[in-house]
Amino acid sequence: MNLFELHHPTIPIANAEDEFPVRRIYCIGRNYVAHVREMGHDPDREPPFYFMKPADAIVAGAAAIEYPPRTADLHHEIEMVVAIGKNGRNIAVDAALEHVFGYAVGIDLTRRDLQKEAKKLGRPWDTAKGFDHSAPVSAIHKAADIGHPNSGRIWLAVNDQIRQQGDLNELIWGVAEAIAELSTLFEIKRGDILFTGTPAGVGAVIAGDRLTGGIEGIDEIAITIK
Ligand code: MN
Repeated sequence: MNLFELHHPTIPIANAEDEFPVRRIYCIGRNYVAHVREMGHDPDREPPFYFMKPADAIVAGAAAIEYPPRTADLHHEIEMVVAIGKNGRNIAVDAALEHVFGYAVGIDLTRRDLQKEAKKLGRPWDTAKGFDHSAPVSAIHKAADIGHPNSGRIWLAVNDQIRQQGDLNELIWGVAEAIAELSTLFEIKRGDILFTGTPAGVGAVIAGDRLTGGIEGIDEIAITIK
């Protein structure tokens, strides 16, 4: 008998009855040139870097998310999300897409004030990035159904005003390269999720805001902050 009933986070899969069980959430930082510039960094192509969120940060589907504690600067980052369907280490770039189960639209919610403080003091980003409910996502769409999108509009609006806009073809490190590099650091496994970075236009939201976003060829997402 289990002492505790564990809640295992899952994400609905479009056109399927099963849900996708989330093992780990990896995220890439600074992966669109215009966003690298707006954050005050040099957009020269440096190797991708990764950070993580806990699996239970996932919030699937339309949701009302509480404004998190200990921040006065909660930011939205709209991102393409990759769901891994096959284990692997040291994966070659040209074999990397075989490890993709599907794609979703996600928002990498960020306590920007805590992140700025962490950067200044050389501290980890966990409290800035890995807080409760910090990873809302749409349903996952199987690569078998939609292919592997490498271009298409990615956008986010707050209360119907466009804030972020870009194209998947502006990714500095594409999905295959990002998976290949990640797999030299960790064995990637079925159930892993990868947030691939955000285009320019990140900004703050407040309680009562309604966030909508989408990626051409994948899906849309809508959440409210309460
Ligand atoms: Mn991000």
